[in-house]
Amino acid sequence: MIDIKSLYFDELEKIITDNGFPKFRAKQIWDWLQKGVTSFDEMRNIPKNLIDFLAGSCYISVANIEKKLVSRYDKTVKYLFCLNDGEYIESVVMSYHHGYSICVSTQVGCKMGCTFCATGKSGFSRSLTASEILAQIEAAQNDLNIRISNIVLMGMGEPLDNFDNVIRFLKLVSDESGLNIGMRHITLSTCGIVPKIYELAEYKFALTLSVSLHAPDNATRSKTMPVNNRYPIEQLIKACRDYFDKTGRRISFEYAMIDGVNDTDECAEKLAMLLKGLNCHVNLIPVNTVSGTGYQKSKTERQQAFIKILEKSGTPATVRRTLGSDINASCGQLRRKTVDNT
Ligand code: SAH
Ligand code: SF4
Repeated sequence: MIDIKSLYFDELEKIITDNGFPKFRAKQIWDWLQKGVTSFDEMRNIPKNLIDFLAGSCYISVANIEKKLVSRYDKTVKYLFCLNDGEYIESVVMSYHHGYSICVSTQVGCKMGCTFCATGKSGFSRSLTASEILAQIEAAQNDLNIRISNIVLMGMGEPLDNFDNVIRFLKLVSDESGLNIGMRHITLSTCGIVPKIYELAEYKFALTLSVSLHAPDNATRSKTMPVNNRYPIEQLIKACRDYFDKTGRRISFEYAMIDGVNDTDECAEKLAMLLKGLNCHVNLIPVNTVSGTGYQKSKTERQQAFIKILEKSGTPATVRRTLGSDINASCGQLRRKTVDNT
């Protein structure tokens, strides 16, 4: 069966015409798909023989709402979606003064095994198709009756470990006749799969690359992020410099502050040295406590001391506000509760 919502328009058109249907039908079908229909029967201006052909050869990816949690503090909404094959994924919708932003998943689980991460703890099931990433946005928009303006690929999974589907998603979601969310409104977060950063740079997308750094040296980073054994920090930073040179886009570094692990003054000094001369911004996030990890967030005084050192050295950094703290808004936590019951 063909995953119809993962097709580019010209691919859809080819299938329609190759099977003897008039070309203009492709545009009609495309428009229905953009509206978020979940069955071919809803395509009211399509003749019965074409509906039968579509139903017999294609399927529409859906993200059905299994659970929905709304934060009492800041209206952040977290969804647990069920996919066509019964797998669960999470998405979070955040409301900012400039509009709505959604954090989408790119895989069911993750292979990377970062020790602080709820997704990493539940193992890996499979990668998502482009249509399944799109379906999260459409389902949230339809449920909340809003238009989403920003996307962050920071949910479950490692986007660069699902490279081809993520590229397809990026092209589809930014298409003017699709959801039309421009690359400047998209952030892709990676744990640092170095060869794929080089590959992504070649596309010259205007998106923001966010690199989950979380430590300033190999010894500290390898303790929490196994990917660092494969692609050590020097290689990662070199790839980031290349990314900036090729795309002109400032890199954003994520740094989850963990009490007693990566939050010393020495860590801040090393971090400042590491990022010297690189056009970047550091987002400091007090780590979210995930059951079974034993990690605690850094104390407020530590966060402030850390940021002061960065500022003094001219490294732009901010401590990020955490949204949805009452609804386990950091991705992976809700699925883990449902599937693993932890
Ligand atoms: N796999 C990608 C994107 C998904 S994770 C990546 O790792 O970048 C999205 C972000 O959440 C990453 O920056 C990740 O390091 C961070 N994260 C995961 N678990 C966290 C936790 N318990 N507290 C704070 N940030 C966490
Ligand atoms: Fe995977 Fe990102 Fe979690 Fe690491 S932080 S396990 S790469 S989802």
